[in-house]
Amino acid sequence: LDFCRALPKCELNAHLNGTVRDATIQELAGTRTLNGKPLSLARLVNLTQQMSPSLAECFQLFDVLHSLTTDHVALRRITREAIEDMVADGVVYAEIRTTPKCRPERGVTKVSYMQSVLDGIDDYFASTGAEDITVRLLLSIRREQTRQEMMETVMLAVALRDRGVMGVDLTGNPTEGEWEDWQEALDLARQQGLKVTLEAGETLNPVETAAMLAWGPDRLGHCCCLTPDLERRLLDLHIPLEVCLTSNVVTRSVVNLRDHEFSKLHKQRHPLVLCTADSGVLNTCLSREYAIAAQAFNLTERQLQSLALNALDYAFVDELEKVSLQQRMQTALRGPP
Ligand code: 5GP
Repeated sequence: LDFCRALPKCELNAHLNGTVRDATIQELAGTRTLNGKPLSLARLVNLTQQMSPSLAECFQLFDVLHSLTTDHVALRRITREAIEDMVADGVVYAEIRTTPKCRPERGVTKVSYMQSVLDGIDDYFASTGAEDITVRLLLSIRREQTRQEMMETVMLAVALRDRGVMGVDLTGNPTEGEWEDWQEALDLARQQGLKVTLEAGETLNPVETAAMLAWGPDRLGHCCCLTPDLERRLLDLHIPLEVCLTSNVVTRSVVNLRDHEFSKLHKQRHPLVLCTADSGVLNTCLSREYAIAAQAFNLTERQLQSLALNALDYAFVDELEKVSLQQRMQTALRGPP
């Protein structure tokens, strides 16, 4: 783990509300209880796992988290804390994704939601005075949303482009919605020059996954439930893949890591990026995901270094910034003179 922590890393799949710290959730929950006991992230995850044999229900726990975090102060705080935790874990570049939400009773609009996230980023840099991480944002389109909501999210992403929003991602409960529901919003995002990544193949759904591959997103997430034909198509298309190992096990998308697509794709030199998806909820961090990959797939230190360095190639950051990040990562890898 120490070797993995020391690696300069890029986090390309981090859902803001999935990064929350247990201590923060307990504090925000105040006197709220769960089955008569104080509400905590660990208890919430445990209960969801016990009650929910299916992946679809895992997503219900986010409803509870959203009820605690969707206000300006909490959003600002969880954004700052997410960055602090990533920096402590050796992350030098992060793309944080989140779904802009309205909460009229707390005065939260989608615009003010995003302002709080941006304030949280500013708070991190103001409080540390450091330039140890570059942070960019993706706005999430949730599969459960209406077409109108999806279009609004894309337009908000366009409006916030000069504030670090690089694109959109398709996210949410994989058992909900269908391709036709979101294609219009994704087309609009692409027309507007935004980057697009899709969470695909979390359940076996060959028709939908084929449509996603055919659309040609800039990146894909998960893709752990593929038929041999889809796997071949993914390899041919060479679309970079965000791999979230712990998430795939916890949501039961894969039973045994040794059978994970990572193994086959890595041998074929497919572009792969290890990510956490929901570090707080899953009680993991990016270093741990690298260590898990090393153990499950017998990766050497050199292979881990390559994975970490190559991740930047697939980041949605402009080329100039990429070059300077590359230099920073190389310097960090060489260690102090
Ligand atoms: P938020 O967008 O509220 O900041 O982050 C939490 C949301 O991200 C959840 O409501 C859910 O829609 C989405 N999410 C978190 N983890 C996953 C995942 O592993 N797969 C998919 N498809 N969506 C996820």
